[in-house]
Amino acid sequence: MKNSIISYPRIGALRELKFGIEKYFKKESSKKELLDLAKNLRKTHWQSIQKAEIDFVPCNDFSLYDNVLDTAVLFNIVAKRYKALNLEPLDEYFAQSRGYQGQNGDVVALAMKKWFNTNYHYLVPECDDAEAISLVGDKIFSEFQEAKEQGINAKPVLVGIFTLFKLINFIDESAKEKAKEKLVKAYIALFEKLNLLGAEWVQLDEPYLVYDLDEKEIALFEEFYKELLQNKKGLKILLQSYFGDLRDIYSKLLENDFDGLGLDFIEGKESLTLLEKYGFSENKILFAGVVNGKNIYKNDYAKTLNLIQKIQKYTQNIVLNTSCSLLHVPYTTKFETKLDKAYLEHFAYAEEKLNELKELKEILQSSHPNSHKFFIQNQELFKNAPNKIDAKVRQRVANLQNSDFIRKPEFKTRAKTQQELLKLPLLPTTTIGSFPQSPDVRSNRLAFKQQKISASSYTEFNQNKIKECIKIQEEIGLDVLVHGEFERNDMVEYFGENLQGFLFTQNGWVQSYGTRCVKPPIIWGDVSRLKAITVSWAKFAQNQSSKIVKGMLTGPVTILNWSFPREDITLKESTQQIALAIRDEVLDLENAGIKIIQIDEAALREKLPLRKSDWHKEYLDWAIPAFNLVHSGVKEETQIHTHMCYSEFSDILKEIDAMDADVISFEASRSNLNLLDTLKAVNFQTAVGPGVYDIHSPRVPSVEEIKETIRKILAKLPKEQIWINPDCGLKTRGYEEVLASLKNMTQATKEIREELKG
Ligand code: GLN
Ligand code: ZN
Repeated sequence: MKNSIISYPRIGALRELKFGIEKYFKKESSKKELLDLAKNLRKTHWQSIQKAEIDFVPCNDFSLYDNVLDTAVLFNIVAKRYKALNLEPLDEYFAQSRGYQGQNGDVVALAMKKWFNTNYHYLVPECDDAEAISLVGDKIFSEFQEAKEQGINAKPVLVGIFTLFKLINFIDESAKEKAKEKLVKAYIALFEKLNLLGAEWVQLDEPYLVYDLDEKEIALFEEFYKELLQNKKGLKILLQSYFGDLRDIYSKLLENDFDGLGLDFIEGKESLTLLEKYGFSENKILFAGVVNGKNIYKNDYAKTLNLIQKIQKYTQNIVLNTSCSLLHVPYTTKFETKLDKAYLEHFAYAEEKLNELKELKEILQSSHPNSHKFFIQNQELFKNAPNKIDAKVRQRVANLQNSDFIRKPEFKTRAKTQQELLKLPLLPTTTIGSFPQSPDVRSNRLAFKQQKISASSYTEFNQNKIKECIKIQEEIGLDVLVHGEFERNDMVEYFGENLQGFLFTQNGWVQSYGTRCVKPPIIWGDVSRLKAITVSWAKFAQNQSSKIVKGMLTGPVTILNWSFPREDITLKESTQQIALAIRDEVLDLENAGIKIIQIDEAALREKLPLRKSDWHKEYLDWAIPAFNLVHSGVKEETQIHTHMCYSEFSDILKEIDAMDADVISFEASRSNLNLLDTLKAVNFQTAVGPGVYDIHSPRVPSVEEIKETIRKILAKLPKEQIWINPDCGLKTRGYEEVLASLKNMTQATKEIREELKG
């Protein structure tokens, strides 16, 4: 029995790579310093992998920014605007990653997209010259050589031809056609060179295969690989999938001449069924993804052993593997000095997962796996876990009735009541919640956290901020005000910190893109709310104004999606618990006299299953009701708002409408006023605030420009259905541009209202 990993994180145990690259960007270090740092990190990573006696050690999984970009550069898929800058390779690479502004010109970066169902973002390669595609890069070979110098015959890893092709943004159809043949040649050239260098294996990552595939896509895949496999010579090809199962293509893959097939048994719900149905092939090795590459909980060896035994019915040629790249978990638990050991023992970040693979291998090689010391230790750990269960919470979830998910009366009736009571003007103006988190706000919060200032001076500072914020909004003339969210570091962490059941790490950083990392909270146990969280801030804010001030909460699906989830209960159950906790907060806000409550579901779309065919049963069927549960208890006159951070939801409009909020705001300014057509087409009920300007840029939109946008919206939707707001929270912006933009927004609205009268 051997073991392998798909890829290792590159950011470094203490985010050394992030800081090194940022230093280089700020011109505080040289290219040589950056490349030396990168080399040292690779060395450290390989040493950890070797220490765990992993048999298949990856190389080329390292990246200074993104692996998809690395693959594009390897094959000379570099848009002309970057080549025209005439920069040296490293700077051309970074120009693609983050744009360039300098002596040699001015270009924007490549687009960034979510990497399948993860929180990692890749750069979308742009191909405007398919003729140029060929093997030109060197990184994969030099990393292979570097590993060799350290005594490792590494397994080079890169994005496979099918996935790469599907992700590239082609300038036109003819480029796309041309690219097919050029890419095949380039991959074959790569195989030749790897052969020459003495590589035994190459791993081609083909996560695109876990989507729903149509016949054309399957045919394209086969066309690509027919040629590649004929030209692999001595090289062994591992076709690696992850993030799901291969139900549309599995049986065909068995017939092809791959040497290894990597299957995901964690997220691949049907992987085992496929084995049972079609078996495996004798001349292939099964790389079995049994260690979860996405979550931080330790592997339960009993479950894994059981799974392996089932797999062994179909093949003995098994390599133990992670379910996906370890890029999606933090680096090591070693630097978590604050978490109680009783909890920490239950976590495995990347380095600890290596150890799990080592132990599992040993256990499986022994003649009595169930009495192996590692097995016994592991089972003891699970038996003695600190408590996760709160009987009251369980009872509450068990008692839920269908009626708890339905708000009454129906939308139209309450819309009328609310209009009469709230007396809002036509095209009401508002913001999404946060105001700029200026340095004084952050340092006040930090000082309080570090116990350098008292609770009362912390509160007083924020109350003054709220006062200022309310005054500003009144002066600008907004209709529905906010308190500004000065007490919040992050919309999920803030609630996590105030709820039972969450744990926080010091160094649980996961790369989100380039040099940016996030540190998700961990859901450890049953979630409940001990006391009101936001009520005192909301009340204070409301007392400062005769206008309505919105209460501001984060919804359960977003809290779940931006945390590490539990593995001992279902996502549905966990989300219901969070929903009940937030529901209590909603009712307390209402009781305190708050008339409008916004429950943000910024991340609702993020965890939609990759397969459309799974959207409902695996996700929407519980995610939407969880939101309903949060607000179904409020009175008819209380207006519920929600907010989403994206505009592409035309494919789930019905479900969004079924969230049954009274008002929804979303991003629209940048691209997608088209969505408005679809809203109209499906007869969308909920009132909408399609963001009228882009807060992701410091640019101040003019009155005219905003009026133009509002007119476009009015052309599509009834005026009574429309709210006017920016497209997201303002916390990353500076006051100067925020004030100017909001003034223009209210002015534009006033002028349009006049036009509508006349
Ligand atoms: N209410 C939050 C804010 O304004 C929403 C943030 C978000 O959509 N990501 O900051
Ligand atoms: Zn947003």
